[in-house]
Amino acid sequence: MTTTPETTTDAAPETRSFEADVAKLLHLMVHSVYSDKDVFLRELISNAADACEKLRYEGLSDATLLGDDGQPRITVTLDATARTLTIEDNGIGMSEAELADALGTIARSGTKAFMDRIADAKGDKEPGGQLIGQFGVGFYSAFMVADHVDVSSRRAGAETAAIWSSDGLGTYTIRTVDLAEAPARGTRVLLHLKEDAANYTERHAVERTIKAQSGHVPVPIFLKESPEAELASIADGAALWTRPKAEITADDYKDFYRTAAGQFDDPALTLHYRAEGLHEYTVLAFVPGTKPFDLFDPDRAGRMKLYVRRVFITDEAQILPRYLRFVRGLVDSADLPLNVSREMIQESPVLAAIQKGVANRVLSELEKLSASDAEAYLRIWDDFGAVLKEGLYEDFARRETLLGLARFKTTASGGEWRSLKDYAAGLKENQTAIYYATGQDLDRLASSPQLEGFRARGIEVLLLPDQVDSFWVTSGVDHDGKPFKSVTQGLADLGLIPLLDGAQAAPVASDAVNAFMAFVKATLGDAVSDVRASERLTDSAVCLVAPDHGMDRQLEKLLAGAGQLGAAAKPVFEINPRHALITRLSEVADGDALREDAAHLLFDEARIADGELPLDPRAFAERLTRVLGRGLG
Ligand code: ADP
Repeated sequence: MTTTPETTTDAAPETRSFEADVAKLLHLMVHSVYSDKDVFLRELISNAADACEKLRYEGLSDATLLGDDGQPRITVTLDATARTLTIEDNGIGMSEAELADALGTIARSGTKAFMDRIADAKGDKEPGGQLIGQFGVGFYSAFMVADHVDVSSRRAGAETAAIWSSDGLGTYTIRTVDLAEAPARGTRVLLHLKEDAANYTERHAVERTIKAQSGHVPVPIFLKESPEAELASIADGAALWTRPKAEITADDYKDFYRTAAGQFDDPALTLHYRAEGLHEYTVLAFVPGTKPFDLFDPDRAGRMKLYVRRVFITDEAQILPRYLRFVRGLVDSADLPLNVSREMIQESPVLAAIQKGVANRVLSELEKLSASDAEAYLRIWDDFGAVLKEGLYEDFARRETLLGLARFKTTASGGEWRSLKDYAAGLKENQTAIYYATGQDLDRLASSPQLEGFRARGIEVLLLPDQVDSFWVTSGVDHDGKPFKSVTQGLADLGLIPLLDGAQAAPVASDAVNAFMAFVKATLGDAVSDVRASERLTDSAVCLVAPDHGMDRQLEKLLAGAGQLGAAAKPVFEINPRHALITRLSEVADGDALREDAAHLLFDEARIADGELPLDPRAFAERLTRVLGRGLG
C-alpha cells in the first residue's frame, strides 16, 4: 500500500486496484526502454492545456468558476534537491470521483491493440512515443520517468480537494486533503523522478524540450527552476492558427500538429487558411503521415476540434464526413455564438456551412497534391485510400471528386497505383464496362481463374482488396458512362472484344464436351444454378461466377457472413471447353465412376480457388484418394 508520509491525513487513504488493462499498461511503461522519454512532458502539458480549455468553456456559462483568476496558465516547477518535477494548471480540476475514474481506468477502446503492439515492439524498433500518443494513454507515461506520482486536484467551484497517489505497481490511493495541500483550482502533478531521470530537474534541458514539443499549446507556460525561483515565461500561449501564414515555419506547424493532434510523425499534408465571405473561420488541418492502428474504430471518428474565437468548444462536432476521419486539426469560427451549447451546435447552419466548406477544401487540396506531387499523394492514398473509398457510397454529391482521387492496383499496373483516367485510356475496342475483381488478398485476386479471358484480350481489371470495395462498386457508380462490372458476375460480354494476337478463340464446345457438362450439371444438382462453357477461362479448367444479374460473389459472401442475407445464391459453374483435362474427361465412358468423382472434384477445385472449403471436405478427401489411386494404377 502506498502512503505519502509528508502529508497529513484527513481521511484514511483508500487503496484501490487499477483496472487490469491499466496495470498491464503501467507494467509496460515502467519497464519500457524507450529512448524518447521526453514524451511524458508533452502528454502532461497537453492534459493541463486541455483542462484550461475546458474551464474556459465552462466559464462562459458560469463565470463564478473562474473566480478572480481568469488567466489560464501552466507552471512547471523543478526541484533538483528533492528530485521532483511538478506540472500545475489552473484549469477545470478533478473531483475525487473524477480522479479515480480518469486515472484508474482506460476508457479508450483500442487499448488492447495498443498493448499487443507495444509488446511486439520489443527493443525499440518503433518509437514508443508514437504508440503512446496514438492510444491516448498519455498520463501513464509519467511512470516512464517517475517511481511515484502524486496528483492533487481541486475542481473549479468545489470546496474539497483530493490527492491521487501511486507508484504505478498495481494500486493507487485517493484521499481528501486540506485545501491548502491542493492548488487553489486545477491540478498539480508531482513526479518523484527515478534516479536515471534526474536530468528532468535541469532547467535548460526541460525548457528546450517544452519549447520544442509544446511551444504552441494555446495556454501560456511558465517555468520555475527551483521552488523559490521566479516564474519565467517559456511559451506565450498564442494560438498558432491566428498568426499570419508568412510568419509560421514548417517546424512550427509540425510542433503544433504533434502537440495538438497528439501525433508523433510528420504531417503528410498541412492545410491552413481563413475562409471569408458569408462565414468567417480559420482552418488548421493535417493529414497524418502514418496510418493509425485504429483507423477503422468508429470511436475515433471526427477528431477535428471546434473553437469559437479561440475558445475550445468541442471535438465532437463531426466537422468532417466519416470518410475523412483521419484528418486532424481544428476550425476556429468567428460567427458561432460563444455561448452555443454543444448540443445546439449540430443543428447550427453555421456549422453546416463549415462542414461543407472544409470537406470541399480538404478534397481539393488532395486533388492539387495529386497533380503537383504524385508520389506524396500516393503515400496518403496508401494509408487512407480504404477510408476515402467509403465516401463513394456515403457521399453522392462528392462521388465524382472521390472517383477522381481514387487509385487502384490493376492487372496491368505491375503493383503501381492507377487512376480511372489511366484505366479509361487503355479501354479495348467494344469494351463497355470497367471490370473489377474483389477479394481479400491482392495476390490471390491477381491469380484468380476468372481473369484469364480478360488477360487474353488485354483487358485491364481493377483489383479491389478492401472490404469497402464490395459496397461502393455495387452502388450504381459509373465512370464516363461505363458501369463497373465484376469479373465473377454473369456473362462477361467478352465475346465481342477481340483476342490479343496469339491467343486462341474459345472453340464452340464439341458434342462430347456438351454431354459432359450436362452430366456435371446433373451430378452437382442443387449446388449450382447452372453449368456452362466459359468465355473467361484460358488456362484453368473451371471457375465459379455469380448468376446473370446476380450479386457480386464477394459482396454476397460478406453479407451472408454478416447474417444480412438468408443464404448466398447458387453460383454458376463455368467449364473451359478447350482445356485438355475437360476434353479428356468428356471421352471417359459413360458409367465410369471417374466421371462422377471428376465432376465433384472440379467443383471443389473452383471453390478452393475462391477461398472456400470443398463442399463436403470428407467426401472430397475420399474422391481425391480414389482418383490418385487410380492414377497410380
Ligand atoms: P487523455 O488525455 O488522452 O484522455 P490521459 O491518460 O492523459 O488520457 O488522461 C486521462 C484523463 O484524465 C483525461 O481525459 C482527463 O479527464 C483527466 N486528466 C488528466 N490530466 C488532467 C488535468 N491536468 N486536469 C484535469 N483532468 C485531467
